Amino acid sequence: MYQELLKSKGLKSTPQRVMVLTMVENAGHIDIDQLSEDFKNSGMSVPLATLYRILGELSSVGVLHTVTLSKGKTRYEIAKGDHPHFLCEECGQLEDLKVAMNDIVAIAQNACTHSTNSVSVTLHGICQNCSVNPKKPLKD
Ligand SMILES: [Zn+2]
Ligand SMILES: [Zn+2]
Repeated sequence: MYQELLKSKGLKSTPQRVMVLTMVENAGHIDIDQLSEDFKNSGMSVPLATLYRILGELSSVGVLHTVTLSKGKTRYEIAKGDHPHFLCEECGQLEDLKVAMNDIVAIAQNACTHSTNSVSVTLHGICQNCSVNPKKPLKD
């Protein structure tokens, strides 16, 4: 399935690219450190520079979508259309919110006189798990 997807985007299907897509899919949202860790755990060691390159390629053809968080790193997910996210400020959990982004985004884009190339909506807060089990804040 990923092989065809890659081909349709003009990218050669390589084992590393397919692995990256599989891991992103399994994780839902993943940052590069976790991805590198997953590769190590699976017995394949891929240099970070290579991962950055692959993630960049997959993002530029629109197979992967990047979620850039104000604090912290970029997370990657399989592109599936714009959707809002919830970010837990305690544990960093990122969750998809299953609602359409259309109305507010259309209004905002109408009000925007600049050319836009991406839209993101992230709700920040404390997830249910963290509000039940508060942990000590991490030191920066
Ligand atoms: Zn949390
Ligand atoms: Zn998402």
